[in-house]
Amino acid sequence: MRALVLGSAGSQPTPKAGCNCRLCTLAREEGGRALRTGPSLYLPAAELLIDTPEEANLQLNRYALAPQRVAWTHAHPDHVAGLRVVQFLAQSSGRPVEGWLPRPLYPLLAERYPLAHLVDAGYLELHLVAPGRPFELDGVRITPLAHELEEPVFAYAFETASARGLYAPDHVRSLPLPEGPFDWAVVQMPIPPLDALPFELPPDHEAWRSFYTFDEALEAWRGRARRLVFTHVYESVGMTPEELDAVAARAGDWVAFAYDGFETAAASASAADRLAAFRAEQARIEAAYGHDPKRMRAELRKLWMRQKPESD
Ligand SMILES: [Zn+2]
Ligand SMILES: [Zn+2]
Repeated sequence: MRALVLGSAGSQPTPKAGCNCRLCTLAREEGGRALRTGPSLYLPAAELLIDTPEEANLQLNRYALAPQRVAWTHAHPDHVAGLRVVQFLAQSSGRPVEGWLPRPLYPLLAERYPLAHLVDAGYLELHLVAPGRPFELDGVRITPLAHELEEPVFAYAFETASARGLYAPDHVRSLPLPEGPFDWAVVQMPIPPLDALPFELPPDHEAWRSFYTFDEALEAWRGRARRLVFTHVYESVGMTPEELDAVAARAGDWVAFAYDGFETAAASASAADRLAAFRAEQARIEAAYGHDPKRMRAELRKLWMRQKPESD
């Protein structure tokens, strides 16, 4: 079961209009992975879009996607403000888009955004679902998981006969940790290790209460997720994709920071790459130490030890 991170930004995009910080300047000049649009995910197996950030229309065009189902995590604008894309999708297909919504989220979403208009105009057909209760789309069981917050915020778990995935892009610290194992979990990024942060974060800063630290996040998801992908990457953190890659590498290659267009299936591709690299290194050792079997065995053992933690 693949998932495509359409947008990997946090509450504000990178670059941000008018911002001349190092990161926004880089994103404006070079684009590439430094460019981040609002947080959203596409699940091909269920043809389901999760969240409609401001750039939702652009995101779907970039991948020529036309999903007929949308679900929402919570009512903040970085997750909803582009919901008029529903109108475009409905106009193209000639039928209303299915909107899947945990019931407690409905009043707030309807109050802040033109849901009623979209429904009245025949662009949107709402399906209100119970938190914690799975519903099924194309054989994928989808469960909205409620965060422990006063405000309604939901994560989504996806299950097929052979795979499990989780999307918890925001407020992840308030999500009771669901039982693993998940093949992948795409979750809100933690606070990067302090020595990697490009600024001082005072010990009394509010962020320490609302975010996991990097180590806490690894501890929370180790054994729960085979592949951990951090998304909702904040412009205000000011770190380049390469700097974030270096942070992820500290944990090993089960961890990555998302970028726009990141596919969770990249995990299996990189597993194949790792195997190829392993075989090449094995051949190199065998050739280099053919005259010294004892040394060859020692070098091969070292190689296997290095490979072991990455192979699961
Ligand atoms: Zn957000
Ligand atoms: Zn900036």
